[in-house]
Amino acid sequence: MSQEENAKPLNFIEAMIEEDIKLNKHGRRINTRFPPEPNGYLHIGHAKSICLNFGLAKKYNGICNLRFDDTNPVKEDVEYVDSIKEDIHWLGFDWEGREYYASDYFLQLYEWAELLIKKGKAYVCDLAAEQISEMRGTPSVPAAPSPYRNRSVEENIELFRKMRAGEFPEGSKTLRAKIDLASPNMHMRDPVMYRIIYAEHHRTGKQWCIYPMYDYAHGQSDFKEGITHSLCTLEFEVHRPLYDWFLDNIIDDAEVNRTRTRQTEFARLNLNYTVMSKRLLLQLVKENHVHGWDDPRMPTISGLRRRGFTPESIRNFAERVGVAKRENTIDVGLLEHCVREDLNQKAQRVMGVLNPLKVVIENYPENQVEQLDAINNPEDESMGTRKVPFTKTLYIERDDFMEEPPKKFFRLAPGREVRLRYAYFITCKNVVKNDLGEITELICTYDPASKGGNSPDGRKVKATLHWVSATENVKAEIRLYDRLFSKENPYEVPEGRSFLDNINPESLKITEGYIEPFVKTTSEKHFQFERLGYFFTDYDSTPEKLVFNRTVGLKDSWSKISSSQE
Ligand code: ATP
Ligand code: MG
Repeated sequence: MSQEENAKPLNFIEAMIEEDIKLNKHGRRINTRFPPEPNGYLHIGHAKSICLNFGLAKKYNGICNLRFDDTNPVKEDVEYVDSIKEDIHWLGFDWEGREYYASDYFLQLYEWAELLIKKGKAYVCDLAAEQISEMRGTPSVPAAPSPYRNRSVEENIELFRKMRAGEFPEGSKTLRAKIDLASPNMHMRDPVMYRIIYAEHHRTGKQWCIYPMYDYAHGQSDFKEGITHSLCTLEFEVHRPLYDWFLDNIIDDAEVNRTRTRQTEFARLNLNYTVMSKRLLLQLVKENHVHGWDDPRMPTISGLRRRGFTPESIRNFAERVGVAKRENTIDVGLLEHCVREDLNQKAQRVMGVLNPLKVVIENYPENQVEQLDAINNPEDESMGTRKVPFTKTLYIERDDFMEEPPKKFFRLAPGREVRLRYAYFITCKNVVKNDLGEITELICTYDPASKGGNSPDGRKVKATLHWVSATENVKAEIRLYDRLFSKENPYEVPEGRSFLDNINPESLKITEGYIEPFVKTTSEKHFQFERLGYFFTDYDSTPEKLVFNRTVGLKDSWSKISSSQE
């Protein structure tokens, strides 16, 4: 650990854990868990939770379980289980074989439910879900009692067993905890524990037709696994009394000394210019607003990976965001800053032109191909150099030339000299136009004495341009991704409209580019196209047709903001 990290103040969760260790709580054992519901792909918010749970276990010599909270067979799928495991591994974490499922505990949960019934703490209710919610009351008005609330233990046991045996239609009965109808905490007003669902579960098949509610399964699952620190997002704070109530009423005296999980809540990660609820992400996928869960515009881990984000950049982002007790929204610029920072150190530089303007070097020999030396990464000398072919006909970026340049435009213009990176000084002699008056090519000369881009006589040029040989290059498909939503807060819409109305119509532009041939010869996948941004080889890329995704542009508004604040 670096000194800087050592010096970092503890966040409130670390402080709590260090205190627990000092007090020898749980015999100094630290066991966290990451508990996804396999009903969608993981997003960057989950990444924060993964980094937190696995990170704390690592820091304090503990362990972190992976537990799937798979209590709703209708929405869950093995596709999601597999993607979640892949994403956690990619982020650089491992659960070391501790892969658990709430469904592993279905029988135990069922037995505990019978125990609660026998203790007079749960009852079978025939009200429909809508009726239950209509009778819930408000925080100041108590719930109306269910007419089934005072069924006898015997009747409840019999009915619950029949529910399990499949004798009642879906939705006709539930098992409810008998707690407190006047509690100011709505979650304590006889919450539903079990509902009837005739659906095949991805792990237990048709074994069950009653399924525990998340709230009934979660705390007991933590307890079963001996989780010492159960970390979750703030919305679960109000569920905590219910989790405690279940355990208080379930654990028999012999088990009192077993680890009682301590739940601690932290603020969920919110990012601007995106949505981060699995429900909405699923909608984007299902309605084809994006091309799947791993569309590079999605805030999913798989989307970010395909976009070209690195695990290090995401871990670093999670670290910088930290954990807080209060909800806030993080600027997506910080995430982009983190990936730039990482790729700046790692990415292979190449030159590519996306919007080409032809340049003919008048005084350069026809058919000559010169291999010039270029630096692979100025941040990392060990990455070495490569050869870039220079020829008589070249492409430069159309934006890098102006026929009538305004005052502050220092790039190429008629009569002006600029440097071509790693190549030569060139001077624009002539502008060639078509019948429509559009510029089709530039006629230039080069100074042979400026080879390598070095000034032969101390003469200065004000700009250095990237370029690509017009004859020695690789044509590639370039996917220019931008933020998926054009509004900082996508949820902000006029009445009757939806977040979909805020989708940025420019979030994907597909174009063609000319890249130096080196990209075909390397196994590197991350590139900085000089002056344009960071790009990542897409999964669709083949040797016949290269495809690159723009990960992020080079302009970093966030680092400017942060350095001006420093
Ligand atoms: P969503 O609200 O996006 O549907 P979820 O909370 O339903 O997500 P789960 O699969 O239940 O998704 O989440 C697994 C874990 O990840 C939970 O512990 C949850 O608290 C945490 N988590 C989910 N979203 C975020 C977030 N935005 N920031 C931090 N942690 C999160
Ligand atoms: Mg959840």
